[in-house]
Amino acid sequence: GLVGSEMCIRDSRKIGLERDLRRAFLKRELEVHYQPQFEIASGEVAGAEALLRWNHPTEGPVSPGEFIPLAEESGLIVEIGAWVVERVCEDLREILDRRMHPGSVSVNVSARQLRDAGFHDTVMDPIRRFGIHPPYMQLEVTETAVAQNRDTAIALLDSLRREGVRVAIDDFGTGYSSLSYLQQMPLDVIKVDKSFVDEIGNGVTSDNICRTVIRMAQGMGKKSIAEGVETREQLDFLRENGCDQAQGWYFSKALSKEAFFEFVEQQDLHTQRRKALEIL
Ligand code: C2E
Ligand code: MG
Ligand code: MG
Repeated sequence: GLVGSEMCIRDSRKIGLERDLRRAFLKRELEVHYQPQFEIASGEVAGAEALLRWNHPTEGPVSPGEFIPLAEESGLIVEIGAWVVERVCEDLREILDRRMHPGSVSVNVSARQLRDAGFHDTVMDPIRRFGIHPPYMQLEVTETAVAQNRDTAIALLDSLRREGVRVAIDDFGTGYSSLSYLQQMPLDVIKVDKSFVDEIGNGVTSDNICRTVIRMAQGMGKKSIAEGVETREQLDFLRENGCDQAQGWYFSKALSKEAFFEFVEQQDLHTQRRKALEIL
């Protein structure tokens, strides 16, 4: 029937994509792009989130929402994830050598990567090799990913934080964790999930939920960053409610490495000019 054949098409696309993804990875067809993150109070670039991009030779751009789950299922995410850390360190080295200040770069980490103690060296080896100051590296993990590997994941994140690497929690408030569990998590930054940001302006209850998530971050003594900010209204609300940082299409989409470097360069020039004027 129709449902059966639709399922078949979906499965064969999936199998095809999985094979192509492996090939794309080996042929270095994946790219790391950077979405800038901003300090809400000053408007300055505070860092970026590294996001994978795959431009398929015939299908065109494939969304990470589609290919990351395939990479997770097949286990390829372990190799791809290690490669992303490597790329980010190399790019950071380059931008720092050009005397620019990008802030810390966040790298998304899948559950599968938190299962193996070897992940410590996967992160630290490139950091040392490229001579990166560890706080420039921030790992984004979800509550769910940590819960799936509880003991190993917490030990890993603890040891990486002791090295100076920072940890952000990506889907804060959307999982099933209890507050006491969240309090035990080794973390520095809480990301206010896009689903909460989307609800800003949709009534008193929605506003209160978003406000509560920001307050929780403050109460736990963590920095907060809102993701998926698309409107001026959302930004104003976040500022009024004490959220520290924001990222989203209101500011910028994810940029190629070159475009991100240019972005940071412009901002550094701007900051220098402003500081020069302050002195005058
Ligand atoms: P995420 O970590 O929650 O990343 C945020 C997603 O929201 C990104 O989608 C980003 O492009 C999108 N976004 C940012 N600002 C806006 C906005 O204002 N409006 C809207 N509608 N969307 C916005 P993207 O790049 O498609 O990535 C999807 C997910 O794929 C990520 O969600 C992350 O979980 C995963 N992912 C991406 N790169 C990697 C990676 O290197 N490793 C792993 N393990 N996962 C990755
Ligand atoms: Mg993320
Ligand atoms: Mg997110």
